[in-house]
Amino acid sequence: MKIHEYQARDLFAAYGIPVAEGDIAKTSDEALRIARRIGFPIVIKAQVLVGGRGKAGGVKVVGSEAELIAEFNRIKNLNIKGYSVDRLLIVRAIDIKKEYYLAVTIDHIKGDVVIIASGEGGVEIEETAKSHPDKIIKFYMQGEKILDEQQWMPKAAELFADLRLQRESTTLLQALLKLFFEKDCSLAEINPLVIDGQGRLIAADAKVIIDDNALFRHEDLAALRDLQYEDADELEAKDKGLSFVKLEGNVGCIVNGAGLAMGTMDAVNLMGGKPANFLDVGGSSNPQKMINAINIILRNKAIKVILINIFGGITRCDDIAVGILAALKQIKIPVPLVIRLTGTNEQQAKELLSQAGMTTFTSMRQATSKAVETANI
Ligand code: GDP
Ligand code: MN
Repeated sequence: MKIHEYQARDLFAAYGIPVAEGDIAKTSDEALRIARRIGFPIVIKAQVLVGGRGKAGGVKVVGSEAELIAEFNRIKNLNIKGYSVDRLLIVRAIDIKKEYYLAVTIDHIKGDVVIIASGEGGVEIEETAKSHPDKIIKFYMQGEKILDEQQWMPKAAELFADLRLQRESTTLLQALLKLFFEKDCSLAEINPLVIDGQGRLIAADAKVIIDDNALFRHEDLAALRDLQYEDADELEAKDKGLSFVKLEGNVGCIVNGAGLAMGTMDAVNLMGGKPANFLDVGGSSNPQKMINAINIILRNKAIKVILINIFGGITRCDDIAVGILAALKQIKIPVPLVIRLTGTNEQQAKELLSQAGMTTFTSMRQATSKAVETANI
């Protein structure tokens, strides 16, 4: 889950990372009040959860009240990559002497937490990675949660000539790491981290992504979710106890158990098809879940077939069959269903479905192959 810059800044401040004074405004009156309190020059920053906001005109330094109001209204009416701007951050402008990049994230290939730093801050790090890969410093935590300062110091010296800044940046990095681990982040990024006119380090931007699977441990953070950026179908699925992720293909998948759901997507791919979604109806045998699952899947108009793949353990196949039949009564399903059932009460399930004129598969390979064939016609 991404959080807004103004929320990430609050986290930074709580962990002792310096940020410029400021506050959030929804109206130009509020912006004016904040600006009068902290004094000009001021930076107005659109709060949108997409990259390249500065380039899209969503960040502006202003020097007077008239300019503040004009720019506030201009930015408020921007549409940045399809998103409207309803909140703007009003902060004291920093007299920027130099911009750096500093982030903590996860390297999924190495299975380790990595610190990424660069003296080429401000621009998107992906661009620097392409044009000047030598200007990017990477430091792996090797499973540790606290920075080994002895090992880090040579890297700090590459970034800053000044010993005081080497020390200050290391303290700041320790704070960023603490935040990263305590809040279960997948990214904690400062771009740019700047040196101001007094030679102090300040975070001029703040980006934090929290691991969705850890949000149950952080109710306060979960409450920061901005629904404008969430997929409505995924939210509804979550609400109904289904794990659902929309994908690009046309084979709708309904599966019990996350492992089998992953396996089903692999099988669809192997057979030359493309799954339209991941959907785990879970281990229970509640027929209503099947109805909800079919309803959610059918909103995706790209779907050509629905593959239902059930391995009955705790889940009873006959309950699934009842769910499918109930769904067929309630919903007009415009695409073919391919059903594979095996395990607990398999026989009863197959009888129920065959009485309704439906055939079922026992083999996952055959069912998947049939579904892909149907989708590819
Ligand atoms: P992003 O484009 O969404 O990443 O927005 P940032 O907050 O990183 O701002 C983009 C750029 O605007 C920065 O790299 C700076 O060059 C400039 N900027 C942002 N804040 C300030 C500030 O306080 N003072 C000055 N002079 N420039 C700023
Ligand atoms: Mn930035």
